Amino acid sequence: MKNISILGSTGSIGTQALDVIRANPNLYRVNALTAQNNADLLIKQALEFKPSMVVITCEDHYQKVKNALPFIEVLCGEDALIAVVELPQTDFVLTAIMGAVGLKPTIAAIIAKKDIGLANKETLVVAGEMVMQLAKKNGVKIIPVDSEHSAIFQCLVGEEQNPIEKIYLTASGGPFRGKNVDFLATVTKKEALKHPNWVMGAKITIDSASLMNKGLEAIEAKWLFDLATNQIEVVVHPQSIIHSIVQFTDGSMKAQMGVPDMKLPIHYALAYPKRVKSDFERFNFLKYPAFTFSEADTKSFRNLELAFIAMEKGGNLPCILNAANEIVVEAFLQDKIGFLQMSDVIEECMGTMQFIAQPTLNNYLETDAHTRIFANQLVTKQN
Ligand code: MG
Repeated sequence: MKNISILGSTGSIGTQALDVIRANPNLYRVNALTAQNNADLLIKQALEFKPSMVVITCEDHYQKVKNALPFIEVLCGEDALIAVVELPQTDFVLTAIMGAVGLKPTIAAIIAKKDIGLANKETLVVAGEMVMQLAKKNGVKIIPVDSEHSAIFQCLVGEEQNPIEKIYLTASGGPFRGKNVDFLATVTKKEALKHPNWVMGAKITIDSASLMNKGLEAIEAKWLFDLATNQIEVVVHPQSIIHSIVQFTDGSMKAQMGVPDMKLPIHYALAYPKRVKSDFERFNFLKYPAFTFSEADTKSFRNLELAFIAMEKGGNLPCILNAANEIVVEAFLQDKIGFLQMSDVIEECMGTMQFIAQPTLNNYLETDAHTRIFANQLVTKQN
């Protein structure tokens, strides 16, 4: 029986993880659940799964959650996420919250020697080098939940002695694949929120439309698999069936495939190193007579290029990129800026914020906070 704490249980990954847990009650027990704002769903989940602790980070909802769950310990505030990951009964922490706010609880979980199912890619984007070193030092396994990284992770099982030559991160291309800058200048959030293959939360769906998601994933892959920038290539594969590819030094390639359903990588991460039977939809070859591949268009989708620049230069630049991106996505979702202006703001932040080559944890937290302030100023100016 694995005792699981889920950070972000009311989001897209969190609810799907609970679907997996519900289907395997003899394998998994929910030890703690956390949510930011969605008090109603959190209460419903807690009544069903009976965790020993529940956290609502937004304090406005605390009393409501506490009153609804008299037999469960209820905490509020962001620091309570630390208490959750340190619970002694927890074996496994699924980090499914969105954004750089995942960094501190992830570090706390590693120090508490809990294995991590990582669905919060921003943690590795912001401070990947530090987090991976800390995990190694504490003997903690970090099992990726992101579908591309789960694919690479699965391809590498049994290949521990064999160096990677290159990885190919597959990208669906999002809803605006093949569109030019003139088109992108006029797109609305409603269009951007319509992903062709994946059902996900709003932030990652916008990131997918702008290709920032693939840029963040490249940085995530760099740290997870200890790669140089020139070992990571993005290839557009609109069918989203091949989830990513590893190329070894003999030229041989391994790919992992499956229908685009996040429950698959979640299920794998929870069960690792085993594979547990599921009743998920099976792939049907007749539905996919052809797989296609093409190059990513970094001229129209500048975010992808900006992410590769940040990855290559390193230091706190990916942290700047990520913080600026979180602000512009929120601004785009609130109709404050246009689709292409998101890249303008990110680029200006990258050029303006102070570069730190060897950041400490405090440097990262400060960079994150300062970049958000500056990016918000730029958003107001653009508006
Ligand atoms: Mg992904």
